[in-house]
Amino acid sequence: MKKIGDSTRSVHVSAEPDKYTGSVQMPIYQTSTYVQEDFAIHKGYEYARTHNPTRALVEAAIAELESPDVPAYGTAFASGMAAITTITQMLESGSHIIAASDLYGGTARLFDQILSKFGIETTYSNLNEGELEKCATENTKMLWLESPTNPLLEIHDIEKLSNIAHKNGWIVVVDNTFASPILQRPLEHGADIVVHSTTKYIAGHSDLIGGCVITRNREIDEQLKFLQNALGAVPSPMDCFLTLRSIRTLAIRVERHCDNAEKLVKKLSQHPKITRLLYPGLKTHNGHDIAKKQMQRYGGMISIEVIGGEQGARKFASASKLFATAESLGGVESLINHPWSMTHAAIPKKRRESIGITPGLVRLSVGIEDFEDLWDDIVNALECI
Ligand SMILES: *Cc1c(COP(=O)(O)O)cnc(C)c1O
Repeated sequence: MKKIGDSTRSVHVSAEPDKYTGSVQMPIYQTSTYVQEDFAIHKGYEYARTHNPTRALVEAAIAELESPDVPAYGTAFASGMAAITTITQMLESGSHIIAASDLYGGTARLFDQILSKFGIETTYSNLNEGELEKCATENTKMLWLESPTNPLLEIHDIEKLSNIAHKNGWIVVVDNTFASPILQRPLEHGADIVVHSTTKYIAGHSDLIGGCVITRNREIDEQLKFLQNALGAVPSPMDCFLTLRSIRTLAIRVERHCDNAEKLVKKLSQHPKITRLLYPGLKTHNGHDIAKKQMQRYGGMISIEVIGGEQGARKFASASKLFATAESLGGVESLINHPWSMTHAAIPKKRRESIGITPGLVRLSVGIEDFEDLWDDIVNALECI
């Protein structure tokens, strides 16, 4: 079959007309339970924590976006953290996880403050050559990666790390939230599990919280479906519908996010108020070559360090009119985040400093506004430092 493009796929995945009415879009199955003809005789739907048709559609859609050429399975959750928590429940007490040191703050909090109570230990690694083997113990079961990472936009070589992990029998999980399946498909580079906070690019309008897990491995999928039902952190039918609606424009939104970010980076690279500019699309970025190999483009996230430390960052953020100061990312509107005091405040100060999350660091989620307007706004905000 001829390969189709990302926009075509985004528009057409899980878009079967409704059997009963011909409705172009699937109705929202806003129900908690389903009538049975006789005891335990039903149409495959018993209770909505276990099965919901609206949810099944969004699960299939994201699975196809992440793995267009090989069948894959999706499992949707009430949040990215619910998805991440559920994956970790595949592990037994006594297991050991190796995780990238530059991890989403909420994931690190889960690993350090909650999983540790149940006997699951995590070692953080910069994942440089030879480091993985050093961190490994006989109980290591999982390698947890993000690429690009949050907020430093570091790039990990998914294929190379997956190969090492698989030689040791570890499951490889990639948090693909920052890239979206339009820019990167970790399953094609050897990852076993991909997780998304669909709150971000996939839903894309800053109006819901959601998560999704995708795998090509049937056994892993069976475990995840069991855990989805047993732990119960499922999304609402309305949020599933909104997510599916958003997927229709995912490819064009991501394209515009990338266009705007690339143009901003080009013009910001010599700016005197900026001491560090982090974007994987820059040739000077230490992960550029790997990013080029495993990503289509480099995304809509940029991190900059401004002069003047936390005060400088504060002046910049408060002077900007188009970039609202808020947590989260990947929505149509541009946002500024201050990792030091906001998203990454839960990470101990020493570790924040040692990995390069400084008080002057500002993370920009570049939206889909007109580039000229974003540029004027940023230049003006930088002048105010
Ligand atoms: C936001 C985010 C999460 C957590 O997702 P929620 O939907 O907020 O629970 C996990 N990983 C990354 C990279 C994120 O940006």
